[in-house]
Amino acid sequence: RQELYRELRDKPSVSKDGVHVDLMMNAGLAVDLPQLAESGAAGIGLFRTELQFMVAATFPRAEAQERLYRDVLESAKGKPVTFRTIDIGGDKVLPYFRGAAQEENPALGWRAIRLTLDRPGLLRTQVRALLRAAGGGELRVMLPMVTELGEIAQAREIIDREVRHLSRHAYLLPTTLKVGAMVEVPALLWQLDELMEAVDFVSVGSNDLFQFVMATDRGNAQLSDRFDPLSVPFLRVLKQIADAGARANTPVTLCGELAGRPISAMTLIGLGYRSISMSPAAIGPVKAMLCELQVSRLEELLSAALASGGAFRNLRRDLQAFAAEN
Ligand code: PEP
Ligand code: MG
Repeated sequence: RQELYRELRDKPSVSKDGVHVDLMMNAGLAVDLPQLAESGAAGIGLFRTELQFMVAATFPRAEAQERLYRDVLESAKGKPVTFRTIDIGGDKVLPYFRGAAQEENPALGWRAIRLTLDRPGLLRTQVRALLRAAGGGELRVMLPMVTELGEIAQAREIIDREVRHLSRHAYLLPTTLKVGAMVEVPALLWQLDELMEAVDFVSVGSNDLFQFVMATDRGNAQLSDRFDPLSVPFLRVLKQIADAGARANTPVTLCGELAGRPISAMTLIGLGYRSISMSPAAIGPVKAMLCELQVSRLEELLSAALASGGAFRNLRRDLQAFAAEN
């Protein structure tokens, strides 16, 4: 198997019937970077910047942030990198950050963009470090846990102000700046068309989105097998997001754990996803699946299954059977 994955590494990631899918990797620390070349990933679809904050004893200084982002961009050698602004709070606590009170429901609490918009100094410092590190190249910034579009507008204002500041001081700016949002809070599902107009790209955070759609704690082992993401209701949600992106011509990707398991990655492709981001070790197995896949047949199976039956129906068996006969 390892042999096969190595052989596949430099092959294009295209299905049997010619559908191209970008297989990206998730990362968060400098130690992850060699995996980019080793896995053959098309880029970094999710760089979790909060990891640098979580392994530190105090808030990383602006220079340390900038240095990390520079290293990331340098090792990416022109492949796209999506930096997510710090997603702290919830299950990701910083022991040295006293701003957060004990919360009854941390997953629903003061976290991610909610926290950084309330402490704009944090976001400003990070944005400035990103802009400086990406001078002369492309910068992609992604906002976590967006609930309402006003949060994107507020973050953009902070970003724009930093751009103006750096250009006044004659810094080399990024040649292109793209701002995207994670889709992981269900409220966005009823603002999809407006969302797609408000951003340059979106990425589905299926770990949190599934947790919130199913009202099921993502870390609770007792519940981990209870509801299946490969079921009619959740797949309808994922399809709605892909369709809204296609209507608006806004690129949609998915960067949760779902992307890294061949059966669910296959399903995402059948729903219209043409870019998915996963742990580097998953790229080989997912690419092996993709090379054998007839996307058009899978699309038929899925649209029929999602059109019929509104009840909670698990499609995993059907999808496994499809994969086996492929
Ligand atoms: C997600 O929620 O799916 C996601 C990719 O972000 P994280 O796992 O870091 O919350
Ligand atoms: Mg998340």
